[in-house]
Amino acid sequence: MVEAWQRQLKESLTDAAQLAERFAVEVDVLQAVIERYPMRITPYYFNLIEQADDPIWRQCVPDPAELAEGGLVDPLAEESLSPVPAVIHRYPDRVVLLASNNCASYCRFCTRKRKVGCATHGVSFREQRDGIAYIAETPQIRDVILSGGDPLLLPDVVLRDLLERIHAIPHVETIRIGTRMPTTLPQRITVELCAVLKRFHPLFINTHFNHPRELTVEAVEACGRLADAGISLGNQTVLLKGVNDHPETIAQLFRGLLKMRVRPYYLHQMDLTSGTAHFRTPLQTGLDIMRALRGPVSGMASPHYVVDLPGGKGKVPLQPEYLDRSGTMPGIWTPDGERVSYPDI
Ligand SMILES: *Cc1c(COP(=O)(O)O)cnc(C)c1O
Ligand code: SF4
Repeated sequence: MVEAWQRQLKESLTDAAQLAERFAVEVDVLQAVIERYPMRITPYYFNLIEQADDPIWRQCVPDPAELAEGGLVDPLAEESLSPVPAVIHRYPDRVVLLASNNCASYCRFCTRKRKVGCATHGVSFREQRDGIAYIAETPQIRDVILSGGDPLLLPDVVLRDLLERIHAIPHVETIRIGTRMPTTLPQRITVELCAVLKRFHPLFINTHFNHPRELTVEAVEACGRLADAGISLGNQTVLLKGVNDHPETIAQLFRGLLKMRVRPYYLHQMDLTSGTAHFRTPLQTGLDIMRALRGPVSGMASPHYVVDLPGGKGKVPLQPEYLDRSGTMPGIWTPDGERVSYPDI
């Protein structure tokens, strides 16, 4: 039986002519972008578009700006941090295991744009096996993060087998899965999938919602099924120019996520990836948003704003500056800009 999510994948939009059936687009121009960076949009996600250039459109429809020169192909130096091709080992006790290089929909701002969706960059079974062998023989690894691509694109049986082998490694204490399925293909979160996942606790899932319009009934139900399977849900949002670079949009997104039992975990500064410069905001935009959230938005719904430094130097949280040591008595600024004297010791 073909399931709803498989049908969605089969009917995904992959070329510019399909976009032209509903919107006025320059097919040749977009097709040139697609030759370089593939397009895939599930019908479900495509139907969230209300008009050209809206926040959903910008995330999934190719843009000639992607062909601009500049930026870094591998901004986080992931290739050089890979002891074996399927593993990225940047921090002492946790690794990323690349489980798939495909996604239900390709985000135009993807950090792994260099590989994601490219047939020549698939993760082979053999590479995956070597990755698991590396984890098994590296006892300081406590936390394995399945990423890609989207790990939940794997069929249930393949995913179960992969999770079983990781779960069986004695020093691996937690497993995380990074997935955009609840956003672009919530139909993938089936009861059967949840039954597979719940066997591998402690299991954490980080979703990837970027705009309040993505919080549909389907998405709410998908996250509900995962949460009911005992899975702790976090969310990683990428700060994107023209999509969500407004305090009000972000506040609405984070409040909405908390309501669906998903805790905002990170707000990511857009990486320096080639072909994504048109999505990048100044750092100050992120800092201003964080300041605006402090107070009006529950601490439960307030993530860390992080910059992943080029060259694989890691993620660094940035905070608006609240401490003021000028003057005779140190002070702390309120988010509204009132200075409160505060004795240090
Ligand atoms: C982000 C990331 C992690 C996880 O970092 P946390 O701050 O623990 O979420 C691990 N490895 C790599 C390579 C990463 O990019
Ligand atoms: S879902 Fe993640 S890995 Fe896939 S294209 Fe989007 S950002 Fe990249």
